[in-house]
Amino acid sequence: MSKLLIVGTVAFDAIETPFGKTDKILGGAATYIGLSASNFDVESAVVSVVGEDFPQEYLDLLKTNNINIEGVEVVKGGKTFFWSGKYHNDLNTRDTLDTQLNVLADFNPVVPQSHKDAEFVMLGNLHPLVQLSVLEQVKNPKLVVLDTMNFWMDNALEDLMKVIEKVDVITINDEEARQLSGEYSLVKAARKIEEMGPKYVVIKKGEHGALLFHKEQIFFAPALPLEEVFDPTGAGDTFAGGFIGYLARTGDISFENMKSAIIYGSNLASFCVEKFGTERMQSLTGSQMNERLDEFKKLTQFETQLD
Ligand code: AMP
Repeated sequence: MSKLLIVGTVAFDAIETPFGKTDKILGGAATYIGLSASNFDVESAVVSVVGEDFPQEYLDLLKTNNINIEGVEVVKGGKTFFWSGKYHNDLNTRDTLDTQLNVLADFNPVVPQSHKDAEFVMLGNLHPLVQLSVLEQVKNPKLVVLDTMNFWMDNALEDLMKVIEKVDVITINDEEARQLSGEYSLVKAARKIEEMGPKYVVIKKGEHGALLFHKEQIFFAPALPLEEVFDPTGAGDTFAGGFIGYLARTGDISFENMKSAIIYGSNLASFCVEKFGTERMQSLTGSQMNERLDEFKKLTQFETQLD
């Protein structure tokens, strides 16, 4: 079984969408990535930090999903990372209302002994120096995937560039790809980002799907058109967790296999948005995931003939 090491926030989120509002609920990039990757037969471990205010039941939830949490430090007297956001009516854009780093501000990640030889590493969203430190503690990974966001481009660009240089794949949304590259065209943006280090660039476009770039090759996966979307929070992380979870499960990191990984990522993200927070991911079953894969196939397969 492949080992998957995940670093990212484990957090409290307060979310507002046109359909409702939540007070501090379980969130965080590593939480969503871990729950998503748990749909594959891999040995996952999360490296993160929380405060003493973080409920034991949330940690237990990760454990019951077969996620090793030895690397999740609990800081005595500390407060957990908090993020709050409000979605616009189109649900594709949001404003960050508040980001409180709290215990994340001076976090020194320690990779558990069991995962120092992890073949797959998912550097989820948090400070680039923490991502870098985790990467330095892993021996010889087969594939490193990086996810980040505009917050770190605005606040720690120099450090972020050092991480970008060292990874194989970067997943980023369209707006952030434009910000990072200074290019409006996503094709040009992906090329410029490839020059920064990653051999593969995945650009997420929310409800409009995701693009995979590698040299001259491009692959596109749609997002499933859903009747009901409640809360897009964590969709990007869930996508990333599905992407790397599938690659870790199959052990094949070719461009061809990455196409399937993109579909798995999109498939899992389509569940994540159906309920608030992590609720839908907690109840997802393997057969529901497989049924929806068929819908993805039907959505894009067609035959054409001109005579
Ligand atoms: P996504 O919707 O995929 O972009 O991910 C949302 C998750 O990212 C939330 O659960 C937040 O707790 C977490 N998050 C928000 N801002 C940051 C940040 N600056 N660094 C790390 N994680 C963040």
